[in-house]
Amino acid sequence: MEAGKGAQGGYVGRGAAGQDAPSAELAGHDSGTSWDYAPAPESREIVRIAPEYGLFVNGEFAPAASGRLFPTVNPATEEPLAQVAEAGPADVDRGVAAARAAYEQAWGPMPPAERAKYLYRIARILQERSREFAVLESLDNGKPIKESRDVDVPLAAAHFFYHAGWADKLEHAGFGPSPRPVGVAGQVIPWNFPLLMAAWKLAPALAAGNTCVLKPAETTPLTALLLAEVCQQAGLPPGVVNVLTGAGETGAALVAHPGVDKVAFTGSTEVGKQIQRTVAGTGKRLTLELGGKAANVVFDDAPVEAAVEGIVNGIFFNQGHVCCAGSRLLVQESVADAVVQRLRDRLGTLRLGDPLDKNTDIGAINSRPQLDKIRELSRAGEAEGAQRWSPPCELPERGFWFPPTVFTGVSQSHRIAREEIFGPVLSVLTFRTPEEAVTKANNTPYGLSAGVWTDKGSRILWLAQRLRAGVVWANTYNRFDPASPFGGYRESGFGREGGRHGLAAYLDA
Ligand code: NDP
Repeated sequence: MEAGKGAQGGYVGRGAAGQDAPSAELAGHDSGTSWDYAPAPESREIVRIAPEYGLFVNGEFAPAASGRLFPTVNPATEEPLAQVAEAGPADVDRGVAAARAAYEQAWGPMPPAERAKYLYRIARILQERSREFAVLESLDNGKPIKESRDVDVPLAAAHFFYHAGWADKLEHAGFGPSPRPVGVAGQVIPWNFPLLMAAWKLAPALAAGNTCVLKPAETTPLTALLLAEVCQQAGLPPGVVNVLTGAGETGAALVAHPGVDKVAFTGSTEVGKQIQRTVAGTGKRLTLELGGKAANVVFDDAPVEAAVEGIVNGIFFNQGHVCCAGSRLLVQESVADAVVQRLRDRLGTLRLGDPLDKNTDIGAINSRPQLDKIRELSRAGEAEGAQRWSPPCELPERGFWFPPTVFTGVSQSHRIAREEIFGPVLSVLTFRTPEEAVTKANNTPYGLSAGVWTDKGSRILWLAQRLRAGVVWANTYNRFDPASPFGGYRESGFGREGGRHGLAAYLDA
């Protein structure tokens, strides 16, 4: 394909089009050579999307009591993919009742080693159907196929494998001799990692002996519904996992339901606070995994090439729709110009476009409202005096797109340094001393994650002790493993997911 002309899929090349595309003057990157890629689209034939989906309650798919449906669209094309049932209060009642009955009659009394077999089965089926899941995730979410294929789906399977191993060893997990499940878990998840977040929520809950009612995000319900089909395929007893699709009201009804013993939420800090108010005084257990504004700290002795890869991965992975994204680059002043130049060169090689193309690095923004939010904050960055830069980049005409964007000259008071943008937008700040790096990194109401790039092990340890973040990555970024606990401080929420610590949320020890 000719550089700069995408069919479905503009990509980094020459020229600019579209509201958010950078001007040639801003671009400043034209080496005179162009690489021609042939498109390598993954076939969508492997996925059969039904025109209509019901709710998954008590092991079966059925319409919502109200009969109401809502559409889910492909954000890369705005093409409607399917109509999905919208669960109302009567459906939430039914879902919670099914989960309660399954907890008391099937899953609770089942020997833990038997429960483990179901988790293994789900993990194996996820692996067997991994291509189908990857394609469906990229269609519904807009993320590049190489990410859904190589990150989301394998990690989701890994979470079920890992927790299958725990199911019959809970008395050795350090929570006392006979930890008990909590009961019925109401779980509300966001749209940025739809399948992976479902796995993060379901796998530990089930391993600990709880039953679940899961509410996927409105814009990305399809892989959670395919996972429900996998539960059927694995022969999971009816009611152990229930999936109620719908909007925020469905989530609100679920977390407020008196039959729910434990609420687990991943999403915005604002909604997390609302949920905290709802469950206060009810005796329900609660874990919240909320937003972030992570600092990725690069010292002058860091290996520049590796650090630049880490910066790119930190903010442009999944279009920056990542709660732990390294959205604030803190770079030591003496190397700032060199690092930013290397970063610009690297961004010039990223390909934006068709999420199903295996060459694509940057996919679509998940929804129109999210695109509007990214645009609004980027405009605020310019208005407050920061310098905006993007590589030359042709944006597809249809769908929701935003080019990889770097702001330099950012000060700590700018909105783009304080608010979660949740898009492919990096704010660059500088520091002179390690102490200043710590002060600036911690100057945020959030506390989810951070990165540090340096040659010195002692400096990594010094910094890690001082950064107020749940996860600190050293000379790497966005590393996830089911055995490793993940979670934040302050406005990033509380509780941990993954590892032994993550089991605690689902056990009455
Ligand atoms: P929300 O927090 O609104 O959505 C997360 C989940 O909660 C969705 O399933 C949503 O349903 C549901 N929900 C919404 N309102 C309620 C409620 N009152 N009670 C219970 N559940 C509810 O995130 P948004 O999708 O609106 O994104 C807004 C911003 O939040 C983003 O721009 C980003 O900054 C941040 N965000 C952070 C995430 C993280 O992982 N930290 C993940 C997603 C967003 P529905 O999909 O129908 O709205």
